[in-house]
Amino acid sequence: MGDGAAGRVLVVNCGSSTVKLAVVDPDTGERPFAGLADRVGTPDASVRVGTTTRTPDDTSHRGALAVALEELPDDVRSGLVAVGHRIVHGGARFTRSVVVDDDVLAELRGLTDLAPLHVAPGVAGIEAALSVLPDLPQVTVFDTAFHQTMPERAYRYAVPEDWYAEHGVRRYGFHGTSHRYVTAVAAEVLDRPLESLRLVSAHLGNGCSAAAVLHGRSVDTTMGLTPLEGLVMGTRSGDIDPAVVEHMARRLGVSAAEVVALLNRESGLLGVSGHRDMRELEAAALAGDAPAQLALELFCYRLAKHVAGLTVALGGLDALVFTGGIGENSTGVRARVQELLAHLGVRADEGANAVRSQEARRVSAPGSPVDVLVIPTDEELVIARDARELVGAAR
Ligand code: AMP
Repeated sequence: MGDGAAGRVLVVNCGSSTVKLAVVDPDTGERPFAGLADRVGTPDASVRVGTTTRTPDDTSHRGALAVALEELPDDVRSGLVAVGHRIVHGGARFTRSVVVDDDVLAELRGLTDLAPLHVAPGVAGIEAALSVLPDLPQVTVFDTAFHQTMPERAYRYAVPEDWYAEHGVRRYGFHGTSHRYVTAVAAEVLDRPLESLRLVSAHLGNGCSAAAVLHGRSVDTTMGLTPLEGLVMGTRSGDIDPAVVEHMARRLGVSAAEVVALLNRESGLLGVSGHRDMRELEAAALAGDAPAQLALELFCYRLAKHVAGLTVALGGLDALVFTGGIGENSTGVRARVQELLAHLGVRADEGANAVRSQEARRVSAPGSPVDVLVIPTDEELVIARDARELVGAAR
């Protein structure tokens, strides 16, 4: 690797209207380059790299990527060994990260039918990178892959069998890259082999999910066919009686698809309180705003209920891991959830929980039968490591 500038990976994370880019050193975690394209696909598309903001002529994912990469210094570009793509949905086909070839690309295009919102931006990102950086191998890392170890009783819904067999209706789970990373770090913090641990990780960001990780393998998780199931999130309802869809479609005179869009975009913390952002919500709750207080209580109660449920998949619980913007920063959410889980053996430590730090750490009381950890997630680092490992193996 010579001077350390080689062996880096360009990590590409495409959303429907965004492209996030970072050059990541898989060994040190250093990021010598980062860029963000916003409002991609609209006339207002913009690309920001450092303090430079540019307006691409071609406002597609490809155009945005090309403009961002023009800002990439030559010495950084020459040290790249791969492009790593975050893909939200890998269906049942992708159980681990893979190097992109024609077959993989064809299969991914096929998956856009199962999860159009979640796969299409990723495919656009791969196509963009293939055209802008044709000499670099491309690797895809799937949010669903880590959960492919779930047993059938966890991933099947109790619906007619042909819904599953012919229409792919099953639970897939998401945030797998994050759950995989933080549970591996948890084993280091606890100084115990991952293969011996029963862990629940709670990834709490704008999207929220919890996963039961037994001996390093995901055995259940709260998200399902799509990221709508499970916990209360910033704008998503999480679990709901599916009959609500028909009821509200009739009441509002809209289609089922429109109700589902409302469950994804106008519900959750936002729907209950008017605040999607946990910081704003906590400030409003503190100021005595009753809907904000209710949203916070709903959020913590649903989370604690799911964590307790996931212990069934584990046969007990050694540690609970908090991550994501809320999990890493909200001392209030962590304190409330620990309180609700006291009967499982969670003993909180107010002082440790209140410490603000970017380091992975234990926040439960010494000797607590269940350890509680805060572990900052780093999905880009996992993508970079997977990409370099696969490319190295392919050479
Ligand atoms: P993420 O999607 O992981 O970036 O997380 C975004 C969520 O984290 C938003 O709801 C933020 O309000 C929340 N968040 C970030 N910082 C804090 C903080 N200091 N306290 C509470 N919530 C926070």
